[in-house]
Amino acid sequence: MRPELTLCSHLGAVAAGAAPFTLAPEEILDWDDGPVEAVVRCRSCDGCAWLRLVERDPHRRVQRFALAAIRGEDVALYFRNRARGSCDASRARAELEALAACTGPVERHVTLRHGTLEIVAVAEHPEHARA
Ligand SMILES: [Zn+2]
Repeated sequence: MRPELTLCSHLGAVAAGAAPFTLAPEEILDWDDGPVEAVVRCRSCDGCAWLRLVERDPHRRVQRFALAAIRGEDVALYFRNRARGSCDASRARAELEALAACTGPVERHVTLRHGTLEIVAVAEHPEHARA
C-alpha cells in the first residue's frame, strides 16, 4: 500500500447520488456478476481510484465497495504489461495483485445499486477516520 496516496478532492467528497467517477468496461479488472476490482476515473479531473468489492447483498441488489487512490502511471503500467500478453493465468493474477498493492489507504466505502453507477450510501472507512 502507498500510504501517501489520497483520493482527489472530488472523489474524497463522494456522496449519495450519481457517482462522480466513470467505470470503463476495459478497466474492470476482475468480474463476478459485477465488478470485483476495477479502476475508476474522476469525472472532474480524471484522477484514478481503485474500486474493490467488499460486500454484496443479493436481496437489496446493491454492492459495497472500498474506494482508494491509485496513480494513473501504475494503472498505465499494468495495462502495458497485460497487453504484452500472457496466457499464464497465475501471472495475470500476480500482475493484478501488484497493481492492487499500489493503492492508497481505503478512504471510503461506497454502496452502488447493482449494475449502475448510482451511489446509495457512502461511509468513511474506519481506518481512514482514525488516521
Ligand atoms: Zn477529481
